[in-house]
Amino acid sequence: EFVFDEVARLVETCDEVEAEKDESRTVAERGKEDRKMLPIYAYRDELLKHIEENQILVIVGETGSGKTTQIPQYLQEAGYTKRGKIGCTQPRRVAAMSVASRVAQELGVKLGHEVGYSIRFEDCTSEKTVIKYMTDGMLLRELLIEPTLGSYSVIMVDEAHERTLSTDILFGLVKDLAKARPDLRLIISSATLEAKKFSEYFDSAMIYPIPGRRYPVEKLFQKCPEPDRLETAIRTVFQIHQTEPLGDVLVFLTGQEEIETAETKLKQRMKDLGSKSSEIIICPIYSNLPTELQAKVFEPAAKGTRKVVLATNIAETSLTIDGIRYVVDPGYCKINSYDPKTGMESLLETPISKASAEQRAGRSGRTGPGKCFRLYNVKDLEATTVPEVKRANLASVVLTLKSLGINDVYHFDFMDPPSDNSLVKALELLYALGALDAKSEITKLGERMVEFPVDPMLSKMIVGSEKYKCSVEIITIAAMLSTGSSIFYRPSKNQQYLADNARMNFYTEKAGDHIALLRVYNTWKEMDYSSQWCYENYIQSKSMRRARDIREQLAGLLKKIGVELTSNPDDLDAVKKAIVAGFFPHSAKLQKDGSYKRVREPQTVYVHPNSGLFGAPPKKWLVYHELVLTTKEYMRHVTEMKPEWLVEIAPHYFKLKDIEEAQPKKTQSRRSKSTKSLVLKVDTNKKAKR
Ligand code: ADP
Ligand code: MG
Repeated sequence: EFVFDEVARLVETCDEVEAEKDESRTVAERGKEDRKMLPIYAYRDELLKHIEENQILVIVGETGSGKTTQIPQYLQEAGYTKRGKIGCTQPRRVAAMSVASRVAQELGVKLGHEVGYSIRFEDCTSEKTVIKYMTDGMLLRELLIEPTLGSYSVIMVDEAHERTLSTDILFGLVKDLAKARPDLRLIISSATLEAKKFSEYFDSAMIYPIPGRRYPVEKLFQKCPEPDRLETAIRTVFQIHQTEPLGDVLVFLTGQEEIETAETKLKQRMKDLGSKSSEIIICPIYSNLPTELQAKVFEPAAKGTRKVVLATNIAETSLTIDGIRYVVDPGYCKINSYDPKTGMESLLETPISKASAEQRAGRSGRTGPGKCFRLYNVKDLEATTVPEVKRANLASVVLTLKSLGINDVYHFDFMDPPSDNSLVKALELLYALGALDAKSEITKLGERMVEFPVDPMLSKMIVGSEKYKCSVEIITIAAMLSTGSSIFYRPSKNQQYLADNARMNFYTEKAGDHIALLRVYNTWKEMDYSSQWCYENYIQSKSMRRARDIREQLAGLLKKIGVELTSNPDDLDAVKKAIVAGFFPHSAKLQKDGSYKRVREPQTVYVHPNSGLFGAPPKKWLVYHELVLTTKEYMRHVTEMKPEWLVEIAPHYFKLKDIEEAQPKKTQSRRSKSTKSLVLKVDTNKKAKR
């Protein structure tokens, strides 16, 4: 049955353009001719002229018009690559990879040769590379190594409207760089939003609009949104499948988990329908999807079948998938939010903005008239999304800026400045970690931490492992925490207990999740990195191979900063201390009701149900990797520790009273208040035991 209110139909009028009727060609067959079909092609020469004449150019154009894939090629054709590389940044890893692979294909070159990409922990470029796609975060890192970006002739900051933290920081840095390098060309490109703001920020840079082709999109919305968004979305997909003419469907979901659930449910529903319904092909796309599967989403559906793309908001503007005629939009996305008051960081499912809603709807009208099914009322949405710089933990970028010699971060040329409070928090954390000194200047330790492309707490843990002679173990743990996807495989319901049993085999010491990750890796290594072993033990072998790759890179970086690889396999306390050296701000103590309270902070937090310590006899003190907010504030990846380590490792951060409070029915020691000396601390602890 229809869940949509027919009366509320809206039809947008837009210029209609002759549709491309050539559906039979495969991606591989697309070549030069295809490039000429893109809206941007008509403006090629004019565009090049403006780039030549304007050092900074703001380009706005409808998504799918060809900005990302074509402009770097035009620049190459015009000879810019003779002076240096063309760098193009993307806020998302998948976009960088996918676009690079497309451009390599169009140019008929091998990916990684003339055209390459660079994302964290994965460099697919070579000496030959002249067109380089990369995440915005990677260009920030390149600035650390090459502050003038001397090897580049053009930098294109693409998808600028996304306003990611790294993009915003890049804005300030490249704006400054343009003054020092008159030969450098800067292109700021974005989907239609905010162009004026970009232009103003870049000293009234010229705005060059590229008209796109757009067909009318009929928008239908639900008057009374239902609570189960996923279920409604799935029902809508089937409703489209059974009542609408052929054409592919794009469903916007919040993340990998939701996409996987949707995939399972869709397949089940297909089975139930049996032969009554024609086939649908399900194509997921999200940032951790294995590379081999990413290409599938661009393959046209076979004749008579319908492709259903399940995507995160990566498909909103970063990626354009041809053939979409229907968009199902539940109206949510995951954004990270950080509360500087509490230092809590979490990924939250949040309603999208009106601007996003428009973009999403537009995806159905690229190659013909489209329909967008909105599972919400657009009136309830905010106009635009708050830029990440206003809602992110700034510790990592502040450290990068300090390392670039930008000491006064308060006066950095932010397009939208963050709150003073969140800058203060970032500085405080970096100071506590030892990355900044009392004058707020970067320390030797800070410089070493910057070498690692990970958050400051993790890099402190890695660099800090030198002291405890366990760098071998620590980089394994760090790599296992950085794969971006789960290590343990959770099968469907009836097999879950088998997987859980297998997982508990790695918790022999019952010390916690970090140690278990170490055990998993080491056992896998003993088994000659066998994927069969992974399969038998409910371990994701893809994640493991990625961990091995990351680990190798971390080992290389340790070597670079002169830290020897030393192993301390029999001293788990050393490993735990190194973890605490980086993550002491994430320590928590047990409370009477079984929950935990963050040390020095008022929040109550809980052990994550996926932790091996969940449901086990509770440990008094834990250090955790991160907090995730779902129904509660959950600590993900926890490991037990000793409270005295806190004052030993971070005496400037913790006072004795912080660790004494949790010890039951004990009178406050008068001596503890007057001093924070280590000897004294051990004394009081002994007393506590008596
Ligand atoms: P814009 O950056 O203006 O949004 P793009 O340059 O990303 O536009 O896209 C131009 C065209 O290239 C679109 O038709 C899109 O479908 C196609 N395209 C981009 N990446 C790929 C890919 N990996 N595989 C197949 N087609 C692609
Ligand atoms: Mg693009």
